[in-house]
Amino acid sequence: MFKDWFQKKKYATIPIYDNGKVSNSVVNKDMIENKDEKIELNNTIKKEKTEIEVDDNIWIKCKKCGEVLLRKDVEENKNTCTKCDLHLRINSRERIAITIDEGTFIEYDENLRSKNPLGFPEYEEKIKKAEEQSGLKEAVVTGEGKINGNPCVICVMDSNFMMASMGSAVGEKITRAVERALEKKLPVIIFCASGGARMQEAIISLMQMAKTSAALGKLSDEGLLYISVLTDPTTGGVTASFAMLGDIILAEPGAQIGFAGRRVIEQTIKQTLPEEFQKAEFVQEKGFIDKIVHRKDLKDTLGKILYIHNGGEKHE
Ligand SMILES: [Zn+2]
Repeated sequence: MFKDWFQKKKYATIPIYDNGKVSNSVVNKDMIENKDEKIELNNTIKKEKTEIEVDDNIWIKCKKCGEVLLRKDVEENKNTCTKCDLHLRINSRERIAITIDEGTFIEYDENLRSKNPLGFPEYEEKIKKAEEQSGLKEAVVTGEGKINGNPCVICVMDSNFMMASMGSAVGEKITRAVERALEKKLPVIIFCASGGARMQEAIISLMQMAKTSAALGKLSDEGLLYISVLTDPTTGGVTASFAMLGDIILAEPGAQIGFAGRRVIEQTIKQTLPEEFQKAEFVQEKGFIDKIVHRKDLKDTLGKILYIHNGGEKHE
């Protein structure tokens, strides 16, 4: 590669790698005549090249600590950083796989989906795109299964579908799941994650807060257990309804939990909020969360709670 401009030309054009872009730069022959310098220049180019060729399928860079980790190791660690414990967001299928005993999950209302009740422009296209990206029909998966042998109804919100915003179908699926739990006398677990209400459904979206809360009220009247698990991020209308209604409220470490966003609050109260504001640990300190549980311990913790609340017997 350097043959031509070392031997024949005084000036030559060589590719310089700058942030992944290749640009041409004129280099004076005198600058690189010295052997050591030549090696250094060579190394710089090689190093930059290596950074460009990192394969995302093999490596993953932690957003929190910056460590470059083998994707396989992170996945084996239940999608948490092996160095700093950052809990990465996982989809509903992964969540069900690590929570529910294998082969026991029965899905409810798989094909229930939102329409466009208010004729909001481009809403159907957005839903279609979300379906393609997530492989789901809506932002929540509901069903029943067993956790370490203890039966329960489970709802898992999926942030890959329109940031798990709550529209009419999300509200309806959760309400139906709670009603089935009432019929079958089963406890309910909801894994919450949401950007809030779905703006395309406006007031109908907000009505889901009342609907889901009313259903959980009936569950409570029947003396049945409801466990809410807050995952990153749980915000807006979901926080303002079923996320905070759990008899027991658990959360994953570092999850963002709040109602309005940081910027909106700062502009309103004209104060700078603390760094850890809306983090699960901060919210726990303020009394909203009973326990923060590492993802690797979550299944066993839920299993134990279900076992205790069932009078210490697994009912088949
Ligand atoms: Zn990390």
